Amino acid sequence: MAVLDLRYYGDPVLRQIAAPIENIDDKLARFAEDLIETMLVKNGIGLAANQVGKAIRIYAVDPSGDDEGEKPFVLINPVIIETSGEQNGDEGCLSFPGLFEKLTRPQRVLVEAIDIDGNPIRLEREGLIARVILHEYDHLEGKLFIDYLSFLRRQLINGKLRKLKAGDIEVFR
Ligand SMILES: [Zn+2]
Repeated sequence: MAVLDLRYYGDPVLRQIAAPIENIDDKLARFAEDLIETMLVKNGIGLAANQVGKAIRIYAVDPSGDDEGEKPFVLINPVIIETSGEQNGDEGCLSFPGLFEKLTRPQRVLVEAIDIDGNPIRLEREGLIARVILHEYDHLEGKLFIDYLSFLRRQLINGKLRKLKAGDIEVFR
């Protein structure tokens, strides 16, 4: 397993729409392990392939903080089937080190995907893990959590965002 290099805000790959995965082979299985390893080493609870420079439809989720005993997993070619309710909370992103913003998301999500063994799966999650599933799904669509911020909030952090874009990854710490 290997820790992959993270891509930060300003990298064009974060705005790319990720391509569907057609083959679930050994190479993808290794990439999935690396994605999980990178997420854990960087203290994230989710990590999308775009964030390590590959615009393909896979992301890792670490549910261990929420559901006891559940191991980190990947979702391949996920489709959001349904969302409901509402939750408010702080959200961060490994591509924006140190930036946390209050964001409203649905409370519950139903997602269908393929697992790393090539089997179709259907997951229903609430709360924090629902938030992660939706945040990471956005990455596959080239969408970032700052896109949800109000115009005013965006204006307030704009200077720092520009520095992050210019390569100062410590700007929000
Ligand atoms: Zn993110």
